[in-house]
Amino acid sequence: MDLKIIVLAKQVPDTRNVGKDAMKADGTVNRAALPAIFNPEDLNALEQALRIKDQHPGSSIILLTMGPGRAAEIIREGLFRGADGGYLLTDRAFAGADTLATSYALSMAIKKMGHFDLIIAGRQAIDGDTAQVGPQVAEKLGIAQITYVEEIISIADNKIRAKRRLEKGIEIVEGSMPLLLTINASAPECRPRNAKLVMKYKHARTVTEKQNEDTDYLSLYSSRPYLDLPEWSVIDVKADVAICGLSGSPTKVKKIENVVFQAKESKTLSNSDSDIEELMIELITNHTIG
Ligand SMILES: Cc1cc2nc3c(=O)[nH]c(=O)nc-3n(C[C@H](O)[C@H](O)[C@H](O)COP(=O)(O)OP(=O)(O)OC[C@H]3O[C@@H](n4cnc5c(N)ncnc54)[C@H](O)[C@@H]3O)c2cc1C
Repeated sequence: MDLKIIVLAKQVPDTRNVGKDAMKADGTVNRAALPAIFNPEDLNALEQALRIKDQHPGSSIILLTMGPGRAAEIIREGLFRGADGGYLLTDRAFAGADTLATSYALSMAIKKMGHFDLIIAGRQAIDGDTAQVGPQVAEKLGIAQITYVEEIISIADNKIRAKRRLEKGIEIVEGSMPLLLTINASAPECRPRNAKLVMKYKHARTVTEKQNEDTDYLSLYSSRPYLDLPEWSVIDVKADVAICGLSGSPTKVKKIENVVFQAKESKTLSNSDSDIEELMIELITNHTIG
């Protein structure tokens, strides 16, 4: 059984390094000012796709990422680890998108990609932290979804049986393909880059990247088409601009700030009952808990 798998992967600001210029005046994230990384749980999602391909070698894994031009790095990273290809959904019209607008744009790109069996997303992105995009994409495509997946137990008769890790325990559920899964950080870590694949794909570029670089590898691309990373605009995916980006986003991020705990906020407690009780009363009083 060969499966067509789409992995949704997001390039996120490394929230461990949010500086003062993290936000633009219009309340959108200044992505250019922040070091960017592969969203951690999307690496867990990619690993699940690669494990399916280990079992079903005829399967294909295509990455889909929506973001600014430099998000092409996400596709290269996926190729270095074993994915077969990827699409960069990039257009000024997508900027400032909330989860509704993001999932709409992604679903339009998936419709353009044609037939698929499985979409695998991360549970959550470390910047928006909403865990909404995966389920929203499933809804927009009218397919079933299994979220908080920790392990794919079996794939048979067009059904996937999966183990979900929930706050209060685990759940084993089954769903028919086409299906969307969201993967938890408790699932296995992604395998590292493969040296041979790094050599094969290190020159993989989007058209825009090639234009910005004075690459003298042009002949390379004609002889190795897999090095051409496709870029899709709002027109390419036939999306309605009015429901994309900031204009299509009912949620506007008003302000984000870096919360760094200062030493003066810490308190040393003994493990005496009275100290613990005092702490509990304080945390309940200031609504940190309870
Ligand atoms: C601090 C902050 C708070 C925000 N709060 C909200 C909010 O409350 N409501 C809201 O609607 N928006 C919010 N946003 C905007 C939101 O981050 C963007 O809409 C974002 O594109 C998707 O939401 P998310 O980051 O929460 O992703 P999640 O829903 O957590 O992402 C889940 C999974 O979907 C896939 N995915 C998500 N984005 C992409 C992408 N661009 N390309 C490919 N795959 C993707 C990945 O697999 C990811 O693991 C916030 C942004 C910031 C920076």
